Amino acid sequence: MFGFKSQTRLCTLLNSTYRDKKNLSSQVIYQYNCKNCKNSYIGQTSRDVEQRKRKHQNVFKGTGMSKIADHCMQNKHTNDWNYKILAIEPNDIKRVIKESLLMDIVPETTDRTIYSQKTYDLNVFQ
Ligand SMILES: [Zn+2]
Repeated sequence: MFGFKSQTRLCTLLNSTYRDKKNLSSQVIYQYNCKNCKNSYIGQTSRDVEQRKRKHQNVFKGTGMSKIADHCMQNKHTNDWNYKILAIEPNDIKRVIKESLLMDIVPETTDRTIYSQKTYDLNVFQ
């Protein structure tokens, strides 16, 4: 039983490694920097980050919701849509935890302010 389980886990691990090599732009945590101010947007997606980008951009055409698009429209700021991949994480739970951690780390290590919302809030001190 234990042996069977380990084998399954190994397969899962290998599959996700293969997928990472095939497509480096999915299952990622990404960052956009506003060109006009020190605000940044951090987000995570299970899908392709280019596909997610189009969803952000669609807000300018009046469909969908996006914090970064809202920020640019409200403040008349621009964003060149050059995303920075902060981390690649195939595991959904680990990805939202990493996203949450990066939202805390990035403002501490850079002069950026994060205005996006955490998918998963870490209530470590509660
Ligand atoms: Zn801005």
